[in-house]
Amino acid sequence: MGIKVYHKDIDYCKDKRRNIPDSEKIMHLREVSFRCPICSRSIYGKNKKDKIYEIAHIFPHSPTEHEKEILDGVELLGEDSESYENKIALCETCHHKYDTDKTIEEYNNLVSIKKKLSVIQKTDDELASINIDNDIVKVLEVVAKLSDEEFDKLEKYKSLKIDNKIEDKYSLLKRKIKHYVSEYYLFIEEQLRNLDEKEKKFKIIANQINTAYLSCCTEDKDDVFNNIVNWLNSKDVTLNYDACVIVVSFFVQNCEVFDEVA
Ligand SMILES: [Zn+2]
Repeated sequence: MGIKVYHKDIDYCKDKRRNIPDSEKIMHLREVSFRCPICSRSIYGKNKKDKIYEIAHIFPHSPTEHEKEILDGVELLGEDSESYENKIALCETCHHKYDTDKTIEEYNNLVSIKKKLSVIQKTDDELASINIDNDIVKVLEVVAKLSDEEFDKLEKYKSLKIDNKIEDKYSLLKRKIKHYVSEYYLFIEEQLRNLDEKEKKFKIIANQINTAYLSCCTEDKDDVFNNIVNWLNSKDVTLNYDACVIVVSFFVQNCEVFDEVA
């Protein structure tokens, strides 16, 4: 499937706005973890007054002449302007700001956020449908056997630049890691306890991964995180990639790196 691109003659904007059913609104809220993906403010709560989310069109439903001009050639998401892929939950303030005097940078930024969130959502859905516990155990066993030379390789690995880097929001990575850790923390801890005699080794490994992660500047954290996952994943062909993401998340979080930056 190729990338769909906007030009003024394309049949993308629908005449009618589609009513969004409640079930779909929940999907939008879940996708952003109930926070505005631009400013990170909570957009949903127990009280009525906390329900301040709005479902925004990423590409405008009725673009102005100015918008048609500046958005010429941009990537489009979904079948048409009314599809789920072209919508995202935002707080009122960010939605209003986004819809006023739109710039191509703002548009591309929101497209990149939406794409990233879709990947996270897809991984979540896949994880929910398979039993990943055994895969995590396998990853931990491989980690326990890693030698010092392997960690020397990690040093080189982590400085690799990932091509075609999507302009990223650090907070999304942070949220993804927190999510995985909260889901699997107890399970991994239990596995580590079962591997008693290896416990000390794990602490060393956790420290090494944490140091590799911390020793880079903030803008590169997403790349470094992915590189560490790829490095671990390359240690054994049978390792499950998502299980590696979870284990690396655990090591990174377990060293309280995020408490330091928060
Ligand atoms: Zn906001």
